[in-house]
This record gives sequence, structure tokens and C-alpha cells, in this order.
Amino acid sequence: MENLHHIVVVGGGAGGLELVTSLGNKLGKKHKARISLVDSGLTHVWKPLLHEVASGSLDANANEINYRAHARKHHYEFQLGRMSDLNRSAKEIVIAPFLDEEDQEVVPERRIKYDTLVIAVGSTANDFGTPGAQENCLFLDSLRQARRFHKLMLNAFLRKNHEAHQSQPHALNISIIGAGATGVELAAELRLASRELPVYGMNHLQSSDVSISVIEAADRILPALPGRLSAAATRELERHKVNVLTGQPVSEVRQGSLVMKDGTELPSEMTIWAAGIKAPPFLANLDGLEANRTNQLVVEQTLQTTQDPDVFALGDCAACPQPGSDHNVPPRAQAAHQQADTLFKTLCNRLEGKDPVPFVYNDHGSLINFSRYTTVGNLMGNLSGRSMYIEGKVARVFYVSLYRMHQVALHGFLRTGVIWLMDKISRAMHPRLKLH
Ligand SMILES: Cc1cc2nc3c(=O)[nH]c(=O)nc-3n(C[C@H](O)[C@H](O)[C@H](O)COP(=O)(O)OP(=O)(O)OC[C@H]3O[C@@H](n4cnc5c(N)ncnc54)[C@H](O)[C@@H]3O)c2cc1C
Repeated sequence: MENLHHIVVVGGGAGGLELVTSLGNKLGKKHKARISLVDSGLTHVWKPLLHEVASGSLDANANEINYRAHARKHHYEFQLGRMSDLNRSAKEIVIAPFLDEEDQEVVPERRIKYDTLVIAVGSTANDFGTPGAQENCLFLDSLRQARRFHKLMLNAFLRKNHEAHQSQPHALNISIIGAGATGVELAAELRLASRELPVYGMNHLQSSDVSISVIEAADRILPALPGRLSAAATRELERHKVNVLTGQPVSEVRQGSLVMKDGTELPSEMTIWAAGIKAPPFLANLDGLEANRTNQLVVEQTLQTTQDPDVFALGDCAACPQPGSDHNVPPRAQAAHQQADTLFKTLCNRLEGKDPVPFVYNDHGSLINFSRYTTVGNLMGNLSGRSMYIEGKVARVFYVSLYRMHQVALHGFLRTGVIWLMDKISRAMHPRLKLH
């Protein structure tokens, strides 16, 4: 074991967990290499599900993967801890002391040696230094934050329901800053929650008492996606009584309100920040590796960092160029998935002294899911390169298949089929909304 080539992957998210699973199955199982995963959490939930966890339309427990159990099954080692630094000359990563919930040290600082290192630590929301955002906004970067959001949302509904019962003013204003896919989908999920909760006993509150606003600085929602998609999404949000405010940058977030650039103040009891992302700050100064303004590690087409061919990066934390385009590969789950596939081939090649495989991003299109109401999107034709607009059930099938592909990469076809069946049974047996 000691002499085996050691591949360390930091971050078991959409990309990293798929990568260690295939490496473990192929190399770990046959003792051709030692594979380790380091993650700051004990469990994995696919990040694009977090807004559904936040609104309660998905029970995270049923979709959580325990890293230790998964590692045992797929022949890799799991180390719990947060990477804080790197020593490239010693070829070791530094793991910060592990603290419990009361901030007591459980495990002191550690170092892990690697032969090949893959950094896949994802991203967090970028509030662009907006005054009051950190103190007064909720974020959806992690399962913990999504669960906290869910509790706060239930409490806000409970409070307003009580006020309505007492015939007091009881309007609830929820604002989502940022109308990218996350903000738009979250708005639809929250509208669904506001309609479902009265069914489960909070019947003094009407859905119309809950005002949901999506606020976007650009002149249309989903600014990174085609105009037709943006128009369809605006129609859909308006149909569900979501206020869509575009061309309105937020200049300050206060407790209970938002201040717009033109000085207007909007009431907002719950404010969610969903505008923009940045990579974790520790990457900005990581032993001489090149990083860009949003802390992403700059990588070559091979996903090797520009300063060190033994250190790779993938997913949201990597700034990966696209040949023939001014834009880097976008921070999306489908990009992380494709990069994990390419890197798997590269790392297998590496053990045999062969060249790395260059990464080419294949944009399959974008899908926006409006909770249980509908889905809209565009699919890219592989040969023609042109996009095709889809909506409704067909779009929903493609949307759901993104998550199923992730599950297939982690569990294989058979187990994914069983999980799908269990999901169906669970949906039939449990309330449509998570109520605790
Ligand atoms: C609410 C929401 C909805 C989204 N919806 C979509 C969608 O519909 N379609 C789509 O394509 N994309 C979507 N995205 C974006 C998508 O989730 C990301 O692009 C994708 O998860 C990136 O994958 P990743 O592997 O780079 O990082 P992640 O999946 O974020 O995983 C990063 C992992 O690194 C770990 N980690 C972080 N820091 C450290 C550290 N210092 N040490 C050790 N471990 C660390 C984290 O615990 C985590 O497990 C959505 C994102 C959000 C927040």
C-alpha cells in the first residue's frame, strides 16, 4: 500500500465524488493505486437539489450519501476534514484541525501526502461585498444552510399564520437576489410551499399573503441563457405570482429590508442571496498556484494547474478555458460531471506514463425547473450545434435525468433503478412537503 501511487481528491461534490468512485472501482479495487477522498462534511447531497431541500419539497435524508460507507463499497479511503493549505515541494496537503459543534478540537491539524492531487472544492455565493449581505442574507451553499433555511421558512410561516389567526397584519415578504437558475427555481419552490402549507394545517395564511420577489441586476432574468428561455421563465414566474424585478441592482441588505441602487427600500423578512459564485478564498494563495479574481485555480485544457502538472482542479473551483471561446467552462453540474469523466481517463493514463486527455466541454443545454408546475429549457443538437426549445413533461424528464446520471455514476444502473423505485414509494407515502 505504502508504495502505491497516491491520488488524493479534495471535495466529494458533483465532480469529485464521481471521480473517486470510478478511480476506486478501476484502480483502488485492483490495488493499482491508492485513492483518497477528503471532504469537510460526512455526507454528500448533490448541490443542485439544495433549493428543493430548502423549500421542503425534497427530504435530504433520503438523498444523502455517507462518504465512509460509499468509500468502503468503492475501494477508496475517506478522510474527514477541511483542506486549508498546500506544500507542493513536500507534496502534501494541510487539513485544518477538526472541531465539533461546540468548537472543541476533535482531531488536530494533519498533513496528507499525495503523488497526484485533484482539487474539487466547488464554490460559494459571491455577495460582491454588498453591505449587509453576510449579516442579513441566507445562502444555499451547503446542506447545513439549506436545512437552516427550511427551519426559518417553516417558523416564518408559523408566525404569519398565527398573526393571521389573530387578525393582525401578516404579509410575508421573501426576496431572492439573483435570477440565475438557482434564484428562479427557488422562487417556484417557495410558491409551491406557500400553497401546500395551508393544506397541512396553516390554514389562516393564504398563498397570496406571501410575496415572493426575484431581483436581478441585469435587464432580464437568466441573463446567461438564451432570450427565449428567459422570456418563458418570466411568464412562468408571473403566472405563479412571483414579482420579477430586473435592471435593479441591490446596494444594501438591511434586517427586514433591501435598498436598491436608486434608493428605493423594499420590505423583506427573508432575503436569499443567489447572485454569482466564487471559489473558496484559501485557493487564492495556495503555494504559488495561479488563481483568478474569483479565487478559481487556473487550469490548462488538461485540467492541470498552470504552475504544477501534479495538481489538477475541476468543477466550480477551476477556471478552465474553452478553445475558440472567450468564456471559461461554466460552473455547472454537467461541466463537473464531464470533467470527472475526462480526468478519470487522464489519471488512468498517468499511471501508464501516457499523455493526459484534453477536456472539451459539451454543452447539452439548460433546463429550468418550476417545482412541480413545469420545466422549460433548451437542448443542444450535438451535430448541428443549434438549440431546441422544450417545455413541460419532456423537459422535466431531461431535468430529472441529470440527477439520475449522477446517481448512475455513483451507484451503477441497477442500484439507481432501485433508488428510483424507492423514491416513488416514498413520495406516495409521505407528505408532499417536509414539515419539520
Ligand atoms: C441551489 C443550486 C442549484 C443548482 N442547480 C443546478 C442545475 O440545475 N444544473 C447545473 O448544472 N448546476 C446547478 N448548480 C450548480 C452545481 O451545483 C455546481 O456547478 C456543481 O455542484 C459543482 O460541482 P463541484 O464538484 O465543483 O462542487 P460541489 O458539488 O459544490 O462540491 C464541492 C465539495 O467540496 C467540499 N469542500 C469545500 N471546501 C472544502 C475544503 N476546503 N476541504 C475539503 N472539502 C471541501 C464540499 O463539502 C463539497 O462536498 C446549482 C447550484 C446550487 C447552489
